[in-house]
Amino acid sequence: MNVHRPRIEDNEWLIDMHTHLGFVSNPDELAKDYNMHHIAGLCATVTPQEYRGLIPKLAGHTNICLGLGAHPWWIHDDRISDDDLKYMLDDIENVQYIAEIGLDFSNKFSDIKGRDRQIYWFKKICQTISQCIANTHTPYILSIHSVKATDEVLSILEEYDLPSRAICIFHWFSGTHDELMRATAFGCYFSINNKMLQSKRAKSYLRTIPSDRIFLETDMPEENQYWNGALERERLVETCNMLYDLTDEHLPSITARKHAELLDLEISL
Ligand SMILES: [Zn+2]
Repeated sequence: MNVHRPRIEDNEWLIDMHTHLGFVSNPDELAKDYNMHHIAGLCATVTPQEYRGLIPKLAGHTNICLGLGAHPWWIHDDRISDDDLKYMLDDIENVQYIAEIGLDFSNKFSDIKGRDRQIYWFKKICQTISQCIANTHTPYILSIHSVKATDEVLSILEEYDLPSRAICIFHWFSGTHDELMRATAFGCYFSINNKMLQSKRAKSYLRTIPSDRIFLETDMPEENQYWNGALERERLVETCNMLYDLTDEHLPSITARKHAELLDLEISL
């Protein structure tokens, strides 16, 4: 532990770039509790239906931005239908936050048909975002899931010229060092959580990623897990402290305002 580590005050805002409010039964109560604990952020969704269901529940919670998402696990095994994915493409022009999307080629998702489906729809989503940027100049923010597929993800992002025209954030980056170099050179961002920093390799990545490309995240709660603002804050503070020990940078004071502005959050910092 670094003895000079600054204390994070209870009223200091922390911005979580990847949280799953839709995984609890009372997302609106949780959003309120986050606010009481000075937590704001980007709520990722795993299906377009989840996104639509959360719109009324999170409306009015100025500390939370809602992301439109189609998670690769749910695409892989057809839990999201083609029709729903088509509706999602139509929704893209009306939103700014896309969370979460991506590819997962880990062993659990090895069958070729499922992987092809993941690639097909990830490409379609990226292509649509690209067209929308050209038409509307929306400053899109993307939270990207990538497991054992980072080269493929980067190639698709590059094909549609997204890293230079949108904020492309790798959430919980688990790629190789070469892939990290490639993502960094493309101008991608990274959201970091405490579990990621338990890996020696991920810790070493902190020396490569420029500090202005780092966001905090929890990726919490998990499905049907009990969660509240206090647990969320504890998790974020732990990650901040781990980051400080690794980089000597006190992330909240440097970045909270910038990240809140980026998300267009109406919170008074
Ligand atoms: Zn997630």
